[in-house]
Amino acid sequence: MGRRLHVGRVLGVEVAVDWSWIGAVVLAAWTLATVGERLAPALGPARLTLLGAAAAPALFVALALHELAHGLASRACGVPVRRLTLFLLGGITDVERAPASPRSEAISALVAPLVNVVAGLVCLMIAGLLAAGGALGDLARAGLPAVFIGWLGVANLATAALNLLPAFPLDGGRLLRAAVWRATGDVERATRWSAWVSQAIGWAFVVVGVGLVFAAYDVGVVVGVWVAFVGWFLASAAAQGYAGFLVQDALAGVPVDRLMRRRFRAVPANVTVRTAVRVWLARTNESFAVVDGERFLGVVSMHEASKLEPEVWPTTRVSAIAVRAPSLSASPGDDMADVMERLDERVDSLPVVEGGCLVGLLERPDVDRWVAKYAAKRSAELRDAHT
Ligand SMILES: [Zn+2]
Repeated sequence: MGRRLHVGRVLGVEVAVDWSWIGAVVLAAWTLATVGERLAPALGPARLTLLGAAAAPALFVALALHELAHGLASRACGVPVRRLTLFLLGGITDVERAPASPRSEAISALVAPLVNVVAGLVCLMIAGLLAAGGALGDLARAGLPAVFIGWLGVANLATAALNLLPAFPLDGGRLLRAAVWRATGDVERATRWSAWVSQAIGWAFVVVGVGLVFAAYDVGVVVGVWVAFVGWFLASAAAQGYAGFLVQDALAGVPVDRLMRRRFRAVPANVTVRTAVRVWLARTNESFAVVDGERFLGVVSMHEASKLEPEVWPTTRVSAIAVRAPSLSASPGDDMADVMERLDERVDSLPVVEGGCLVGLLERPDVDRWVAKYAAKRSAELRDAHT
């Protein structure tokens, strides 16, 4: 999932939005404009467009509130949170470890929709007061502030309702998983079952939505597009959620030195940048670990070289531009599940360092093979259990 846009940090947690979220905003703006035209033609196109544009901050506030509630709930249970990604319907809070028990999973899944319900009701009440006496249906008389706060209330209630659909990794799906987990005692099986249910629900939504688009008129078409869009999202989120879970499950408790290569290539410190660039251009564009004897000096890639003027390449050594950061190496005893983040989108190999010396190299294909083997082993076990 490299398709996210980083927004910033809140309470030490990285906040990002997925591209699907931008699709949701466009759809919400269009819905508001279409429905608004019907309910309040007196507002005029300019104010309706303004109202449509207000969909983005309202959705953002509702979803961010939802994810923040998850994050704080997880943290209260002692599970560190590193990133919130806002998706179409909510988000996925990347927690660093799988949930500890069905009970803590259920609590963390229930807290966030509850926060949205409370916020939604409060917003609708305030909007009702602002609109002086429940004239909210009459958008033209209520005024834009009341309409915006009302829309914020609706966005919160919709976020709560959609997240309670039994579709993993959304909250309803996590509740389902917690229930199956409690019943079977097997978190992997519980995750797989809830992912299956989610995919079935998602595709059913797509079928109904597409049917509506063709069969209905006017506002019905808008509803159809929403239903199909939500269904598509549910189906793909379930598949991704299960895949992500499998990776975590396969790697948790596995030390780095079990998967690292002990025979590997490294670049001696005195090699010039020009030589390294030649290798990058001719063969590979991956990063290299730079060593002085066995001592690890850092990582160097085309990215660092490209910051230098080409004239100085022949006289500069790779050791001068090698980057050394905790996020760019691992220790032999580190848990693979924690290291995965570092082996993310950017780097495909990670130097393993012990006592300042380079002792191994963790390569992405090796990790992928390990996860695939684990997944195959799990499904073989399940086949045997069923026959
Ligand atoms: Zn949620």
